[in-house]
Amino acid sequence: MKPVSLCLILANMALVVYSLPITEPTEEDYAFGETYLKRFYNLTEETGPTSRQGPSQRSRKVQEMQKFFGLKLTGTLDSETLAMMKKPRCGVPDVQIGHFSTFNNRKWKTNQLTYRIENYTPDMSVAEVDQSITRALQVWAKVSPLRFTRIYRGTADIMISFTRGDHGDFNPFDGPGSILAHAFAPGPYIGGDAHFDDDENFSFSSTRGYNLFLVAAHEFGHSLGLSHSNDPGALMFPTYSYRDPRTFSLPRDDVNGIQYIYGPNPDVNPKPDKPDPTSPSTPDACDPSLVLDAVTTLRGEKMFFKGRFFWRSYSQNSQPEQMLIKTFWPELPENIDAAYERILSDRVFIFKGRKVWAISGYDIVSGYPKSLKSIGLPQTVKKIDAALYDEGSSKTLFFVGDYYYSYDEEKKRMDQGFPKRVDEGFPGMTSKVTAAFQVRGFTYLFSGPLVFEYSMWTRRQRRVLGNNYFLSC
Ligand SMILES: [Zn+2]
Ligand SMILES: [Zn+2]
Repeated sequence: MKPVSLCLILANMALVVYSLPITEPTEEDYAFGETYLKRFYNLTEETGPTSRQGPSQRSRKVQEMQKFFGLKLTGTLDSETLAMMKKPRCGVPDVQIGHFSTFNNRKWKTNQLTYRIENYTPDMSVAEVDQSITRALQVWAKVSPLRFTRIYRGTADIMISFTRGDHGDFNPFDGPGSILAHAFAPGPYIGGDAHFDDDENFSFSSTRGYNLFLVAAHEFGHSLGLSHSNDPGALMFPTYSYRDPRTFSLPRDDVNGIQYIYGPNPDVNPKPDKPDPTSPSTPDACDPSLVLDAVTTLRGEKMFFKGRFFWRSYSQNSQPEQMLIKTFWPELPENIDAAYERILSDRVFIFKGRKVWAISGYDIVSGYPKSLKSIGLPQTVKKIDAALYDEGSSKTLFFVGDYYYSYDEEKKRMDQGFPKRVDEGFPGMTSKVTAAFQVRGFTYLFSGPLVFEYSMWTRRQRRVLGNNYFLSC
């Protein structure tokens, strides 16, 4: 469950700076990749697991997988691709490229469905399993006309079981990790059934193991006719990521998917043209009104934070990659206020409210979070709006409302004469700074959807840009 992808990427980034050797995929990696592509991308080519040659179906399948996950399209098993392949996930193949998709429109012909819990996992109490399953079905019932009735004997539409290894459906489970569960599209017999790999450790409310409610809610999406989505914020995204079950709300992409098949819930949403504002939608880089929470550099990459997500952009990728913050840093908060990188100490600082976190690669530096007060900001500052490390003055600037502070990292204290008005330090900057960073000798102050470009040395405003200057779409 540990997010490995960033550490591998960072190892690669670090090699630019520190000349570390590139990690070549091992023979095991090739064999692993082959199994993965056969299982999830319908790779059929019979090539030995150790063969590396040939612009083959395999290379195309690797690209198909990379496209699905929004990775760089190399067609090879680079470290980032392998890391994504090794994340815990659902056992159902990724059949289509696109946001929500269906299994060739397979659906139930009735909205009144039955389910039966055939057996229980020893990881949780019976009541906890029952509650997790019921809640997971309600996630879908809430936004559709589907209604679920539990039965205790006979064959239900959705038969739910905990099982392990080879369990008679030609889709064997694989021991701990990797594949967590799978489910079958609507239909008779095994259709609609959901199987959970009991070699996993399932949990009820904590972040320990895999949260059964979250895994089951995803699987029931399949039971109802949804396939995998490539929207990283969707419940139907193939890999597991923890989110708080107490505040879980079905993301917009999944709502669109289930309503595409069955229509809206006639009881609570009589106006299908008005989407429920509580279903979280994944931020779109192309949205001209997008207001970023924070921006920073990180070991040569640019990072743009928004809500639960961030985009990563580095010189080799034309399209920025969108990921969940929790996938890389499970302990970091979402909806952050500000971020900046201090290259000298190889740290990125993340701010939310009165707290600051320091990260080094994918690790939270021990001793954090700390309070804003610990870096010398006055008690009256409840949150900061933006932060950047200014190479020109070798100071860190904190933006709070119409003012900014200058912090001396060496002396670990705020400079005299601050706070100053922002437009005093950055002429023409009269609106609130919402995010900031420096790239290639320029300071970029974000204010709402606009980006103000300043020369780092003269502090003269040069251009006013849009987010899409950095976030191509
Ligand atoms: Zn799935
Ligand atoms: Zn099965």
